[in-house]
Amino acid sequence: MFGVDIRLHLAFFLLPMFIYWTEYSAHHYANGSRDLALAGIILACVAAHECGHMLAARRFGLIPKAVILLPLTGVALYDEPRGEKPQPTLLWKREIRLALIGPLVNLALAGLAALVIMSTNRGVELWKTPFLQPANLPRSLVWANLYLAILNLMPAYPLDGGRIQRAVFARKVDLSTATRRAVSISTAIAMVLIFAGPFSDLWLTMVGVVIFFAAQLEERALVFQSVLDNVRLEEVMLTDFATLSPADTLEDALEKAVHSLQDDFPVVRGSDMVGVISRQRILDALRAEGNGYVQAVMNKIFEVSMRQESLSSAFRKLTARNSSIIPVVEDQRLVGIVTLQNLMHSMALLAESRKLRRDEVES
Ligand SMILES: [Zn+2]
Repeated sequence: MFGVDIRLHLAFFLLPMFIYWTEYSAHHYANGSRDLALAGIILACVAAHECGHMLAARRFGLIPKAVILLPLTGVALYDEPRGEKPQPTLLWKREIRLALIGPLVNLALAGLAALVIMSTNRGVELWKTPFLQPANLPRSLVWANLYLAILNLMPAYPLDGGRIQRAVFARKVDLSTATRRAVSISTAIAMVLIFAGPFSDLWLTMVGVVIFFAAQLEERALVFQSVLDNVRLEEVMLTDFATLSPADTLEDALEKAVHSLQDDFPVVRGSDMVGVISRQRILDALRAEGNGYVQAVMNKIFEVSMRQESLSSAFRKLTARNSSIIPVVEDQRLVGIVTLQNLMHSMALLAESRKLRRDEVES
């Protein structure tokens, strides 16, 4: 939507099940479609909340990339404009403003919904408990927004309150230490809520579970980001790889592709890189036009990288060209290749090894 990926976290499916189950255990009866409608209302309120963050982020010059919707909150991912790193002092003020927008959107929606309900329908008793109830959807709309505003202001990272807390920490320590500190506090809060739920209100357990998932998501994103920024291409590039020649026929190329694990091939004439081609492209061309030469169907426009470039720069080049291979060159000589397939594998491995190393340092 508007260039932003909207993703639904698997945990979202917990919500309708949870509503159905609490309704059923309260009255030995549950209305599936109304329960689903309540879950839909909550999703819409979360989406409106995240829209608020996105629009504000755009105003601050950030590039919204993706939103992951969880049952009671969302995680928004941004890119800094053209990969710049802003001043840390500017960062914490911006973070606080950016965080406050979401809850403000929910407060405004709650107010608006209450006004509309009071001016049109006198039958809806806004102050009657339970506030969130599938049997009374208009009242639930008002209260869902109020609850979302309050919930998201809790100091449990990555909820907005937790982001504000992290921004305050980040004035004294670096961002990853601040994030880790905020995540620990958040995990503690989540645990308390999860265990307090059965003794008071099961919604607390639900909230705890969501905070726990969201904190995990953020922490993983952070580890991935540090891998992207700190790992050089020479650490992950493939140095043992097959190449094709522009004079190869497509059938020969396919034959070579069969004997290699690669999905993508650099095309080399002598010691010159002249193009790139994927296994899929070879197959498509063979199907469409029969046998021909690699020369005619290879991609002649491609990006190259240096050994010392970071993974994030390689990812940017891959996505910008919508390509899946980058040749790594040194003095115009091909020394390795980095493919999307190989990046995905090594990213997961590197993230894991970094986490292990960090746990070692901490214990
Ligand atoms: Zn928010």
